[in-house]
Amino acid sequence: MHKKTLKEIIGLLEKKEVSSEEAVKSCLDNIEKNKHLNALNYVNADNAIKQAREIDARRARGERVGALAGAPLIIKDNICTEGIPTTCSSKMLQNFIPVYNATVVEKLLAEDAIILGKANMDEFAMGSSNLSSYTGPVRNPYNNDYVSGGSSGGSCASVSANLAYAALGSDTGGSIRQPASFCGAVGVKPTYGTVSRHGLIALSSSFDQIGPITKNVEDAAFMTQIISGYDERDNISYRGEYPSLEIDHEFSFKDKKIGVPKEFLDLLLDQDVKAITRKQLDLLSDEGAQIIEMSMKTLEYAIPVYYVLGCAEAASNLGRFDGIKYGYRSQDFEDLIDLYFKSRTQGFGKDVKLRILVGNFALSKGNFDAYFKKAQKVQTLIKQEFDQAFEKCDLIITPTTPTPAFKINLDQEDAQSRYICDVFTAPVNIAGNAAISVPAGASSKGLPIGLQIIAPSLGEKLMFDAAYAFERIRQ
Ligand code: GLN
Repeated sequence: MHKKTLKEIIGLLEKKEVSSEEAVKSCLDNIEKNKHLNALNYVNADNAIKQAREIDARRARGERVGALAGAPLIIKDNICTEGIPTTCSSKMLQNFIPVYNATVVEKLLAEDAIILGKANMDEFAMGSSNLSSYTGPVRNPYNNDYVSGGSSGGSCASVSANLAYAALGSDTGGSIRQPASFCGAVGVKPTYGTVSRHGLIALSSSFDQIGPITKNVEDAAFMTQIISGYDERDNISYRGEYPSLEIDHEFSFKDKKIGVPKEFLDLLLDQDVKAITRKQLDLLSDEGAQIIEMSMKTLEYAIPVYYVLGCAEAASNLGRFDGIKYGYRSQDFEDLIDLYFKSRTQGFGKDVKLRILVGNFALSKGNFDAYFKKAQKVQTLIKQEFDQAFEKCDLIITPTTPTPAFKINLDQEDAQSRYICDVFTAPVNIAGNAAISVPAGASSKGLPIGLQIIAPSLGEKLMFDAAYAFERIRQ
C-alpha cells in the first residue's frame, strides 16, 4: 500500500477502501525495513497513529475532512513542527522542539495530513550530498553505496523508498531538485515568494524556498497548490493571484518553444547525463516542440554569486545561534565571549563554520563592495537574462545535475568540490523562477537522472502541464 502515489492513497481513503491507520502503519513498517537508509531524524509514530484514528473516526461519522485527510507525509528537519524535534541535522539544534508550526505545516494540517516524521538533511541545508548531517549520511535507495544528494536528501530518499506518500523540502540553490534527481523523485522549487517560509529555519533568505517532493508530477502540482499562498508572516510573500494548478491532461508540446542554454550543454561532461538529456530533447522535438539553443552569458557567474550572497546571508542568519536563547550551549566557559565562542565552535559542523567565515569575510568593511554588492549587481544581470530568455521561449530545459549520484566517501568529502552540483539549479534561485526536476532515465550504473524544466516567475501552471506531458511520453 505504501507504494501508492499521494492521489491514489487519497482516493482509496475517500472510498474507505483503506483506513488512514492502515496507510500510516504500512508506511511505518516500511520505515522499519529501510532504517539503513538513515532518511529520518525522527519518526512521529504514536502521534501519527492517534491522528490517523481520529481522522478515520471523523470520516466514519460523515464529517467533512481536508484534501489530504489521513495521508502520512514527511517534513524536512529545518521546517518547524510544534512539539516535534526540528534539528537541521545539527548538534546545535539537537534538542530543539519548536513551540509553533511553520505556515506550510499549518496548511498541511488544515487539510488533515499526518506528519509521519522529520527528514535527515545536510546540516543547516548546506550541501549536496547529505554527508554533512550530524546524524550521518542518507543512503540512496537505488544503490546504498551512493549519496542521496542534498540538502533535502532524507525527504527525497523517503519518497523514493515509499516511506511516505510525499515530503516537503527546502531549496536554496538546488536542495530539492538535486536530491530528487539523484533519488528518482519529482521535486519542485516554486517561484520565490509563493510559498511562505515562516517557520523555515533560514539559510539564505534571498533564495530559500519550500517545495514538495513526490512520486509523480500530478502529486507535485497538488501539493504545491496546497502549500502556496500569501502569508503576512513572510515579508517577501507574493500578494497577487495564485492560479489553479490543476493539470491540463491535453497539454501538447506542439509549437512550444523550449530554450536550451548552450553554456549548460557545454558543461556536460558526464556521458550518461549528456545522452539522456539529448534523447529527451529529441523526444520533445518529435512531439512538435521547437528546441532553441540560446546563449545565456551570465550563467557562468551563477555559482560565485550564489556562494557569495548565500554565505553572507547564512552567516547573518546563523548569528542567532549563540548558546543563550536556544541551541547547544557549551558547559565549560569562562565568560560571555567564551560561551559564544565555545558553543558555536562545538555546535556547528565543519561546512557550516566554513560558510560563516566566507560570509563574514564578504560582509566585512573593505570587502563588502567588492564581494557582496558586486554579487548583488550580477544577480540583477542574471535575472534580466532569464527575463530576456523567456521572451524567446516558453520554458527552459536543462539536466538537473551535471552527474548522477556519487559514492559515499566521508574521508574524501570536500564541500567545495561539490559546489558544481548546483550549476544548473542555483541560477534559478538567483533569478527567483519556478523549476521542477522530473525523472528522465538512468545511468549505466542504474542511478536515476533528472531533467529540469524551468518556467518564468509564476509560470507554475505551464511548468506542471509540460512536466506531466513529459512524464507520460518519456521513454
Ligand atoms: N547545494 C547547495 C548549497 O550547498 C544548495 C543548498 C540548498 O539548496 N539548501 O548551498
